[in-house]
Amino acid sequence: QKSCGPTTINSLRTARRGLTNVPRRQNLQDITITRTGKPIIRTQGGRSALGGHTVTVFGATGFLGRYIVNRLARQGCTVIVPYREEMAKRHLKLTGDLGRVIFMEYDLRNTPSLEESVRHSDTVYNLIGREYPTKNFDLEDVHVEGVERIAEAVAKYDVDRFIHVSSYNADVNSPSEFFKTKGRGEAVARSIFPETTIVRPAPLFGFEDRLLNKLAGVTNVFTSNSMQERYWPVHAPDVGEALEKMIQDDTTASQTYELYGPKNYSTAEIAELVDREIIKHRRHINLPKAILKPTAGLLNKVLWWPVLSADEVEREFIDQKIDPTAKTFKDLGIEPAELSSLTFHYLQGYRSAAYYDLPPATEREKREEKKYLHVLD
Ligand code: NDP
Repeated sequence: QKSCGPTTINSLRTARRGLTNVPRRQNLQDITITRTGKPIIRTQGGRSALGGHTVTVFGATGFLGRYIVNRLARQGCTVIVPYREEMAKRHLKLTGDLGRVIFMEYDLRNTPSLEESVRHSDTVYNLIGREYPTKNFDLEDVHVEGVERIAEAVAKYDVDRFIHVSSYNADVNSPSEFFKTKGRGEAVARSIFPETTIVRPAPLFGFEDRLLNKLAGVTNVFTSNSMQERYWPVHAPDVGEALEKMIQDDTTASQTYELYGPKNYSTAEIAELVDREIIKHRRHINLPKAILKPTAGLLNKVLWWPVLSADEVEREFIDQKIDPTAKTFKDLGIEPAELSSLTFHYLQGYRSAAYYDLPPATEREKREEKKYLHVLD
């Protein structure tokens, strides 16, 4: 049976707004059968909807994680969130109805805990990644060995779909350890589970990003390449939408997607946009690579909070390259947002209170506000 409800409402909305060129929402079936013969039954109903899927999202506690957990949980999918740290996962509980978001403690080196997390699911997302090596995990542990263990668990329990988030520029021959291990992770995932969908996002921007927030922050940003590296920044909620569409469309299995924004920027150009938006000038200090790279490597080892790592310095010298054979947002029917149209939205919190856009309160208003002084206990 075809679900005509959402399509009809959608076309009415489109007609009312007079927007004829807006792509229509995908016409989803109420019932579908997965590759392994499992029936998926979907019913509409807002927060009490039934999404039909049981989905495990590894790395859900990070920046991108919330944009996919939210989308799945609010349409009634059961979302399993493997976590390491109690406090890091709390915000995800609210994204779905009671019982929809299930937390399971796990460790990337503990195979039984990984298997526990995937065995009841029909789709597994892997968003686990780290920009820098940590005390207990180097990049190889996270991006290659971790992926291997997850892919093996996925294959063992014959999970229908495995969607692995890699990175732009993932390449086994890259001079950057991050890109190299991401490239090897892709190969490992495909060799164990050939139907793996690989997603390579460009640098992400959004509320919790490490791009706009870093450039707008008060701490000086040390760079080596005068911020000349170029890439196509992508809006995190767009990547969330793309990840959601992949589970609804089985033709995305075994495909590779490069998800990038519509406009190419250098970091210096973004820093200029940021300065204009926050009405402040942030200083960025350029140091030679021969000095910054070893210093960053050393600081990254001795300090226990995230600082610039040696590999991040190396990545400053690598521009984003687009793989022409990979699919993009266009193949998923998504129009990606452009960075400059959203900088105000994401950066207004960095403006000084002097630019707060409410008229100043009059003396009378101020007096009336303090009419009563309550003493409650
Ligand atoms: P975050 O750094 O915000 O989140 C990373 C996630 O991975 C967290 O949930 C973290 O768990 C988990 N994780 C990291 N190391 C380990 C480990 N050793 N064991 C278990 N879990 C671990 O990443 P984003 O959300 O920004 O990115 C999501 C994915 O997209 C990553 O794979 C990243 O490499 C990739 N990507 C991101 C880009 C960006 O600009 N942000 C650009 C290109 C690719 P915990 O909370 O417990 O630490």
